[in-house]
Amino acid sequence: MKLPNTGTGSTELKSEMTARGADDAKWRDGKTAVYVFNAGPEVEQVQKEAYAAFMSENGLGPLAFPSLAQMEKDVISMALDLLHGPEGSTGAMTSGGTDSITMAMKTARDFARSKGQAGPANIVLPQSAHLAFDKAAHLMDLVVRRVPLKTDGSFEADPTAMAAALDENTIMMVGSAPNFPHGVIDPIEALSDVAVANGVWLHVDACVGGFLAPFARMNGVPVPAFDFELEGVQSMSADLHKYGYAAKGASTVLFRSADLYKHMPFDFAGWSGAPMTTPTLAGTRPGGAISAAWAVMNHLGVEGYRRLQGKVCAAREQVEQGLRGRGFEILGNPLLGLIAFRHPDLHSFALYGELYKRGWFTSVTKEPRSLHLMLSPKHADMIDDYLRDLDAACETVRAGESMPAETVQPRYN
Ligand SMILES: *Cc1c(COP(=O)(O)O)cnc(C)c1O
Repeated sequence: MKLPNTGTGSTELKSEMTARGADDAKWRDGKTAVYVFNAGPEVEQVQKEAYAAFMSENGLGPLAFPSLAQMEKDVISMALDLLHGPEGSTGAMTSGGTDSITMAMKTARDFARSKGQAGPANIVLPQSAHLAFDKAAHLMDLVVRRVPLKTDGSFEADPTAMAAALDENTIMMVGSAPNFPHGVIDPIEALSDVAVANGVWLHVDACVGGFLAPFARMNGVPVPAFDFELEGVQSMSADLHKYGYAAKGASTVLFRSADLYKHMPFDFAGWSGAPMTTPTLAGTRPGGAISAAWAVMNHLGVEGYRRLQGKVCAAREQVEQGLRGRGFEILGNPLLGLIAFRHPDLHSFALYGELYKRGWFTSVTKEPRSLHLMLSPKHADMIDDYLRDLDAACETVRAGESMPAETVQPRYN
């Protein structure tokens, strides 16, 4: 497409965009269990209005927009309160989990340097940790040491093996709460003990669980300690645009103290323009992402989140029960909204392909080969439909009539 010579009116553009969206995943129908967190039309409306209200404002300018600066402070303070941030803990909003993880790593690296770390820096993480760590390590020339998971079928990080991978140039070790591929919470308490014993920074990646686990726990789910409650945890990433149900472009990166946080902002005066300090990777910071997160959090409150997260956990329990009854194995012990599972006889990717043909946009896990669901509150109404279509998919695969499993590409995009 070339930039058109003459412009088009907004009504016409709107209908063209609707037409262009016709082939997109129909996530509002509840048959998408990846990419989107569907808390229903009311929350969507709150996001939309709040986003639009500060869409043009810029979080880069706290003096110009004290409103956004205060909303960000409020969001961080609500997040720290939920995640047992101690007195003096602090943080910032970022554009997403990848941004939060990158900033936590940059902060840990600069903290380590300030203490005299000088060799080629490395990070130690479980094999199940998100690829955002590798991406950030690539940007910063850090060495990634991925450590195999426990071999007991729990799909948890192995604290002993991770301890053995540490050395004087390790700037960070990582645990996930939960990890994305299996939805399993790592043994953060044991990782925290290793971190304390070795004087290493522990980051907890609660991108997908940070705003779910606290409410699941309030609802009686036996979620083990995973946050700043544990003294080895120096930083956390927790995404608002996942189970916080905020508009996309909103995450938090949190630190145990201002003394750690101070290594995060970039403060620079050596150019022709006026000196500038930016807390995160971004320069311009979209005001709408901040206001929408603030609004959704205040709209839902503890009661709203407990209700929605209760639905997510109920959906997961219902699907687990249905899967076990059909001979599927659930990987590990998922407690939140993610679940991975496989059938002893049927190829997971073939089943995935058959479910896709029946309108389900879900995903897969590669190690071990399995099906993957990321559940939203909306899915509480959808499990019977899913299991019915899964039965049909199983029949097709069993009969050898499915598309060949090798042609189903296990990729996110
Ligand atoms: C989603 C996710 C990330 C990355 O977050 P983005 O917002 O997609 O950049 C990191 N870690 C975990 C465990 C995640 O689920």
